[in-house]
Amino acid sequence: MRRLLAANWKMHLYPEEAISLLQEIRSLWERNGWQTLPTVIFPPILYLREAVSLLRGMTLAVGAQNGYPGEFGAFTGEVSMAQIAACGAKWVLVGHSERRYYFGESHELLQQKLKDAQRRGLSVIYCVGETLSQREAGQTFDVLSQQIEEVLQGEILWEKLAIAYEPVWAIGTGVHATPAQAQEAHAFIRSLLQAKGAPAASMPILYGGSLKPENASEIFSQADVDGGLVGGASLKSESFAAIAACLIAGKDHTQLAGSRDPQSEAPLESEHSAH
Ligand code: PEP
Repeated sequence: MRRLLAANWKMHLYPEEAISLLQEIRSLWERNGWQTLPTVIFPPILYLREAVSLLRGMTLAVGAQNGYPGEFGAFTGEVSMAQIAACGAKWVLVGHSERRYYFGESHELLQQKLKDAQRRGLSVIYCVGETLSQREAGQTFDVLSQQIEEVLQGEILWEKLAIAYEPVWAIGTGVHATPAQAQEAHAFIRSLLQAKGAPAASMPILYGGSLKPENASEIFSQADVDGGLVGGASLKSESFAAIAACLIAGKDHTQLAGSRDPQSEAPLESEHSAH
């Protein structure tokens, strides 16, 4: 019902490196028969079209790391959600902490981005998470509530939404949340979604923050952790595939988002498939 794996390449890789990595991921997914694992690659926007064309026909989808609400306009340097969708991407990240803190994105803007993306047919991974000082001050739940409440307002297409819990202190630091910390936050987020009338039980909630092959299994073993948003470890096909293998091994086959019986030829059915 709700498994999902995502790779956030951030501002990394030259063109030929990006193409090689896509080709390696594609062949690993083919070779391992991982049709049951909805996977999204978020390359730098420059490589979006090439990624879409390289991964066509796979259960691997492509997403944009950022997008601007609207169709066209005088917004130098921006790329619209409509343009992203027209290039064949299926997903967009909204609310990543690097956008919140380095680029000062407000909850108002994040709400506009999320709704516009969904309106244009894109699914959204909405990222939430507390800073270290907020955690140490005992504010984790308040911060998560605020990030959910102030952005997921009004008409939200729940079937086009996944959440990523990414504690800011774990992103790119090598320090990951303990399985218990992740489970606590994920269960809390699911309860918030439930209270908003969302189909929370079927919505993917991903963990992100220094996920590695060495820690993925124990984090994925938690009941409310449905997958991962992987930064640094997604830049090498071997480590990304090793994390995928942990997710495949760690969750009951029947819990797959958009999964299909590997024996069957039936198409992906769930609204939460990667495509
Ligand atoms: C991220 O940027 O979303 C992320 C989780 O990064 P890393 O895996 O490198 O901590």
